[in-house]
Amino acid sequence: MKPAPFTYHRPASVREALELLARYGADAKPVSGGQSLGPMLNMRLARPAHLVDLNDLLELDYVRNTGGVIEIGGLTRHHRVASAPEIGRDLPLLAEAAATIGHYAIRQRGTLGGSLVHADPAAQLPLVAVTLGAEVVLRSAKGERSVPADEFVQSIMTVDLADDEIVTAVRFPQQLADEGSAFDLFSRRHGDFAIVSVALTLRLDPAGAICALRLGLGGVGPVPQRQTGVEQEAIGCLPDAETAARLARAAAAAITPEDHPQVPAAYRRELVETLTARAFLRAAKRAGVTA
Ligand SMILES: Cc1cc2nc3c(=O)[nH]c(=O)nc-3n(C[C@H](O)[C@H](O)[C@H](O)COP(=O)(O)OP(=O)(O)OC[C@H]3O[C@@H](n4cnc5c(N)ncnc54)[C@H](O)[C@@H]3O)c2cc1C
Repeated sequence: MKPAPFTYHRPASVREALELLARYGADAKPVSGGQSLGPMLNMRLARPAHLVDLNDLLELDYVRNTGGVIEIGGLTRHHRVASAPEIGRDLPLLAEAAATIGHYAIRQRGTLGGSLVHADPAAQLPLVAVTLGAEVVLRSAKGERSVPADEFVQSIMTVDLADDEIVTAVRFPQQLADEGSAFDLFSRRHGDFAIVSVALTLRLDPAGAICALRLGLGGVGPVPQRQTGVEQEAIGCLPDAETAARLARAAAAAITPEDHPQVPAAYRRELVETLTARAFLRAAKRAGVTA
């Protein structure tokens, strides 16, 4: 199919883009990489009268360290997120997750802002944003506000974004140097959306026990889920295979995924158990565990 007719706008500045969105309101949609909106237009699931192309707003394509907070511009492509040395050093969980999105061509076009706004329940970047406690920065002609990622993503493909707003940046707390992290997913074919994904970070105290753990799961409900009960249970435990197996079983028991004929709930639970244990042991190794 072909899209319904629309008027195409190519603003040269953020200000101009915001003016267009304020003028056309619900009749307009911004487009960045077009990797999600393009198919939706073609299938006529989206029929905006005005398309506001953000691709010339290069001031929204950046990575900045503002003292413990890594701010990444909304137009930053997945490939840059996956490969920028400073993201690999300061946000290794995000870099590892971004490298698994779709295929190379998709990563060259798709953007951080577009992925968060599209809010697919299986998408990597909303999961990492929720797991790390990131803030989403939104701007309209009226001003700027920021929203915690876990409040921004409200339901399947539903986010806290007004018609006249764009995502200008996402602010991630920098991972600590002694923090191990790992991202893992399972999909039926390489490059497909994940059925289940796991994002995990952990730190050890001087005695070698876990003093902090973050565990986020994707593909198990309408939005990415932090497993705070499992996180608490981990505190004080040794980062060994026994703990990995116990926490993974607890994570699988904590979820209530949809029971779908092609992906039964029990299958997702098994995937969560396997992937959580695997990510835990990899993160532990990266946090300095040698055995
Ligand atoms: C074959 C294929 C495989 C894929 N596999 C994966 C995968 O494994 N994992 C994954 O996470 N994604 C996957 N994707 C989706 C891809 O990552 C998209 O890039 C991403 O979901 C949306 O980013 P985008 O920049 O292309 O957004 P667009 O498609 O341009 O826009 C998506 C939505 O966001 C809005 N929008 C875009 N930018 C902004 C902004 N700055 N502010 C406000 N609203 C904005 C648009 O209006 C639209 O509603 C895949 C896509 C394809 C085609």
